[in-house]
Amino acid sequence: MEQAGRPDGRGLVVAIDGPSGTGKSTVSKRLAAELGLAYLDTGAMYRAATWWCQHEGVDLSDTDRVAAAVEAMPLQMVTDPADPRVVCAGTDITAAIREAALTAVVSTVATNLAVRAELCRRQRAEIDAEASGAPGTRSAGRGIVAEGRDITTVVAPDADVRILLTADEAARLARRARERHGSADAAAIAATRDEVVRRDAQDSTVSTFMTAADGVTTVDTSAFDIEDTFRAVLGVVRAVSEAR
Ligand code: C5P
Repeated sequence: MEQAGRPDGRGLVVAIDGPSGTGKSTVSKRLAAELGLAYLDTGAMYRAATWWCQHEGVDLSDTDRVAAAVEAMPLQMVTDPADPRVVCAGTDITAAIREAALTAVVSTVATNLAVRAELCRRQRAEIDAEASGAPGTRSAGRGIVAEGRDITTVVAPDADVRILLTADEAARLARRARERHGSADAAAIAATRDEVVRRDAQDSTVSTFMTAADGVTTVDTSAFDIEDTFRAVLGVVRAVSEAR
């Protein structure tokens, strides 16, 4: 395992954003494991918020009730990159939040601005706890890789390393189709279009993750497999760490 961290003793914070199908989650988990860092999947928190509202019988279009429910959500993120888990009110919902029916409605909750403010606050607290080595945290102060659509711009604009993973739409659709349906033929692509294209368009109304903000390094993964993407991202992290 490589040594992470900063000369001032604070842990390393790596923020990775980008649209669906760029390899964000896979690469972030691998990077965290390689560097001995915690791993925070912020998308899983929006998924958990959606699960919790449904569990509590809250109508997702009732923005005030959704916001109140999410503020009270008893959520625990287990940030082990080898086995990240999501626990809500004592129930392990890691698998449940990946279901297609939930994926189809998560953007309704994620475009609720009060929900975003609450989850942003929780995400910053997780990141700060790992970077400062607060008692009981996963990385013992080594730091964290946090991934999700607004992480480099809104949640952690002062992260040590900020990376935007991009890929053209055809590449992103083909990857997700293979993941979900085992093939990237026309029927599989059509079945994946809502999850990738419509969801990103809806999510884009409240956060910017298709273009890089100032100070964010873009890695275009269109022609990359996951191995190439991992190597490119690790290269950016090493270059930034060495320059400090
Ligand atoms: O990355 P994933 O597909 O798990 O994200 C699920 C949803 O969570 C996205 O479609 C988006 O609506 C929301 N999200 C967000 N901001 C983030 C991460 C995810 O709005 N930082």
